[in-house]
Amino acid sequence: MKLTFLGTGTSCGVPTIGCKCYTCTSKDPHDKRLRCSALLETEQTRLLIDCGPDFRQQIMTQPFRKIDGILITHAHYDHMGGMDDIRPYCQFGEINVYADPLACQGMLQMLPYCFAEHRYPGVPAIQLHQIEKHHPFQIGDLQIMPFEVMHHDLPILGFRIGSLAYITDMKSIHEEEITFIKGCETLVVNALRNTPHHSHQTLSEAVDFARRIGARQTWLIHSSHDIGRHKEVNAQLPSDIQLAYDGQVIEV
Ligand SMILES: [Zn+2]
Ligand SMILES: [Zn+2]
Ligand SMILES: [Zn+2]
Repeated sequence: MKLTFLGTGTSCGVPTIGCKCYTCTSKDPHDKRLRCSALLETEQTRLLIDCGPDFRQQIMTQPFRKIDGILITHAHYDHMGGMDDIRPYCQFGEINVYADPLACQGMLQMLPYCFAEHRYPGVPAIQLHQIEKHHPFQIGDLQIMPFEVMHHDLPILGFRIGSLAYITDMKSIHEEEITFIKGCETLVVNALRNTPHHSHQTLSEAVDFARRIGARQTWLIHSSHDIGRHKEVNAQLPSDIQLAYDGQVIEV
């Protein structure tokens, strides 16, 4: 499998609008972070994980071909706000979107016109699939096991796909979920900044979590400008736990 990080930034992106801080004024392209999303591809199957407001810009960097499914972690705008821009992909057929009951509800509220009885011609054709934690499902040659992480008091989904575990927007996790993550070779998990936040892990919490899971390689995402510059942060981190960057491609 090939994983492309389409976006590795927090909800407002980096640089932050109007900010002149050390990170936001960096000339290094690794310090430009769009909202979190990733593309997971095999020879047969192409999945998008989350579809935030930067989707259009992100997907233009990729070859134009069918997307077999969109996995939604949760119904926050930075993970779903680009859904209307999937329209061009409807020429390959309906777009299959997989989300838990809460995120399905969010989808209906955000895009009511996509689910209306009489749809305006040209609106995205979305086939919504309700998924539940611990109930695996198949898309093409990929089997996906959704598990639950806590985003403050909101339960959201992480995904285990083969040797990959993908987690965003986590603050904490219940012990019983760990069994779904253990044994992964590649862990993707969120690290917001150094100072505590009520709904996101800090960098040191992310490093502790990475050590607990013990993946061969951990990539950190959903970072804000407060985390500092990519190169300098990575130099301080162990080589098996590193900040990911937009456009980075890894083999899983
Ligand atoms: Zn988020
Ligand atoms: Zn800044
Ligand atoms: Zn969120």
